[in-house]
Amino acid sequence: MDRLHRQRCFNHAAREAVARCPSCRRYFCRECVVEHDDKLICAACQRKLTGPKKKRTSIVRVAARIAQAAVMFVVLWILFFAFGRILLSLPDKFHEGTFWSKAGGGEE
Ligand SMILES: [Zn+2]
Ligand SMILES: [Zn+2]
Repeated sequence: MDRLHRQRCFNHAAREAVARCPSCRRYFCRECVVEHDDKLICAACQRKLTGPKKKRTSIVRVAARIAQAAVMFVVLWILFFAFGRILLSLPDKFHEGTFWSKAGGGEE
């Protein structure tokens, strides 16, 4: 009667099983199972379950990236606009100043 309780891991014949995969109905040891939605599931089934889901998350990530890029563009545009306004608000002396003409004045 003891054998019924001592199931072996599907991957490791020498190890005692601690959990049964609800998906493939096989027994697995502690190392072969992973938690998935508060359930213990074998690694192979977990890969099957998470496989198709990855595509959805990647689409969400791409959308998030596009949104981020749009936000960045708007922020850069606002900064550029603000910078332009600061330049315009500067006094004319700054543009006509001797600071810039000094550099190219002594060619001849
Ligand atoms: Zn499984
Ligand atoms: Zn195992």
